[in-house]
Amino acid sequence: MSSPSPGAAEQRAFALLGDPVSHSLSPAIHEAAFRALGIPARYSAVRVAAGDLPEALGRWADRGGGNVTLPHKERAAGLLERATGTVTTTRACNCFWRDGEGRLAGDNTDVGGFLAAVDEMPGARGLEGAAVLLLGAGGGAAAVLEGCLRRGARRVDLLNRTVARARRRAARRRAAGAGASRTEVRVLEAGEDAEGSYDLVVNATRLGLSPSDPLPVRLAGRELGAAFDLVYAPGGTAWSRRAEELGIPAADGLGMLVHQAALSLRRWIEDVDPPLERMREAARSAAAARARGRGEE
Ligand code: NAP
Repeated sequence: MSSPSPGAAEQRAFALLGDPVSHSLSPAIHEAAFRALGIPARYSAVRVAAGDLPEALGRWADRGGGNVTLPHKERAAGLLERATGTVTTTRACNCFWRDGEGRLAGDNTDVGGFLAAVDEMPGARGLEGAAVLLLGAGGGAAAVLEGCLRRGARRVDLLNRTVARARRRAARRRAAGAGASRTEVRVLEAGEDAEGSYDLVVNATRLGLSPSDPLPVRLAGRELGAAFDLVYAPGGTAWSRRAEELGIPAADGLGMLVHQAALSLRRWIEDVDPPLERMREAARSAAAARARGRGEE
């Protein structure tokens, strides 16, 4: 954990490092938190090319810390001098800081963000003993898989457009110790899920980022306990809205984004109590402004 207290946060600066970063909601979320807490710190979105990542991580860790997003989460994991167990098992880092001994430290707060967001879904049955259909095999899916394993899901079925990538994801997780978990991880071939019933279905693909995208998976005519979309949109994504129309408890990714930000804040600033509702409100406003800018409202 980082050492400075909120009072010592003067002049601290935090950044989201990625490429692209211009549409990120993270600056709005973190600046709202700093304002609410009276912490004189700034948070910026900084576009960083892959070759500049090592220098950028060190420089921003010295200033306060930050987050990492696409496409650098895996590379950042390999550059840390101290990694949490969650970074080791997911092989991804989305949060970094300088620890009390001056080492570049990192965590993957997407895992805890996903779990906290699922916990607050009204009507959802929880992950313990659950059968989960996980769509996607990228960084977001790795965090969801990790969360399901940690909570003792009974089974996780991975379904991805590129089946070989899902196989690699499952194999990596087994190599990182999923064998010790009681969760069965299966890789589905295309179409194999067609009649399946699940306690939870999670969209961790990019489908839904563009209004013209098809829905990630069919929801009607099957037994589904809940639907969780990592993608977020004002008023919910087309997929999460469709689930609700069918009476399936659903959430989009805004809650996960806010919770991972809150967990990041706790890593950077000791004893901080993240103002979750202010952060959520800031995320909603920034997402709505972004959608208006694209002419979606
Ligand atoms: P990623 O590593 O680039 O993975 C993208 C995934 O989407 C892959 O499984 C890819 O399948 C799939 N995909 C892309 N285009 C597709 C298409 N046309 N049809 C079917 N599948 C397609 O990205 P990521 O980091 O995992 O992020 C995935 C999504 O989750 C993004 O929308 C991201 O914004 C969101 N996310 C949200 C949060 C949050 O806090 N709410 C956190 C992390 C990620 P292939 O392997 O076949 O290419």
